[in-house]
Amino acid sequence: MSSDGAYGRLFIISAPSGAGKTSLVNKLIAEMPGIELSVSHTTRPQRPGEKAGIHYHFVSTEDFQGMIDEGLFLEHARVFDNFYGTSRTAVLERLAAGIDVILEIDWQGAQQVRAQLPDCLSIFIVPPSRSELQRRLSARGQDSAEVIARRMRDADAEISHYHEYDFVLINDDFAQALGRLRCIITAERQRTERQAEYVERLLG
Ligand code: GDP
Ligand code: ADP
Ligand code: 5GP
Repeated sequence: MSSDGAYGRLFIISAPSGAGKTSLVNKLIAEMPGIELSVSHTTRPQRPGEKAGIHYHFVSTEDFQGMIDEGLFLEHARVFDNFYGTSRTAVLERLAAGIDVILEIDWQGAQQVRAQLPDCLSIFIVPPSRSELQRRLSARGQDSAEVIARRMRDADAEISHYHEYDFVLINDDFAQALGRLRCIITAERQRTERQAEYVERLLG
């Protein structure tokens, strides 16, 4: 994919729930041109404040299964008793248009994407401590105590896959973590294959 300068680069970001990936990615995308977040499909109930088509495409389990059957997902997985999936065409169309795309997906989805698009780059975000993860999940104020307990229990399973990722970011100080994330994306954009078209034009 990245061997052709006309293509955008695909970034995967995973983290245990509450580590701060959505906050970091939203801030990054707001300030950086040429990069977009892929909007996933999910069967999870909509949280207060979430907008359909912006945060997620909220669908029924039946519709989700229909999309699987039609082969519409680049990847899909069951996470916390709900289904989540990434639309294949939405991602490939943006990459073909030269736009970088971020997938905020779990480790199962990351494995599926790497198998199909090995040139993708993956980043794993961890919280500074377990107690801070618990605090952030509670402070977000969007999930019930039961859902938070479930997400804390599943955090170890997610974190145990950290070594499958190209980079690991510790999200302690938010501004510092954002700066490091920006550095990773910026460095990837200077890769020789992304610059070849420009340099070839210089050669005349
Ligand atoms: P949050 O990450 O705590 O805000 O909670 P969400 O309910 O939004 O997401 C829960 C989990 O599902 C996270 O681990 C996400 O990375 C993962 N997830 C979200 N969208 C997708 C997707 O399209 N595919 C896969 N495989 N996982 C996803
Ligand atoms: P995720 O998408 O990984 O589940 P969120 O981006 O929703 O995580 O962040 C969870 C909560 O933690 C939010 O309330 C967010 O404002 C807060 N948060 C994120 N990063 C930091 C940080 N570095 N320091 C303190 N709080 C943070
Ligand atoms: P169950 O709870 O029985 O595993 O799944 C409930 C429904 O979700 C089933 O009808 C199943 O077809 C559907 N489903 C949607 N996505 C998936 C998936 O990725 N894997 C599996 N096993 N079932 C899925």
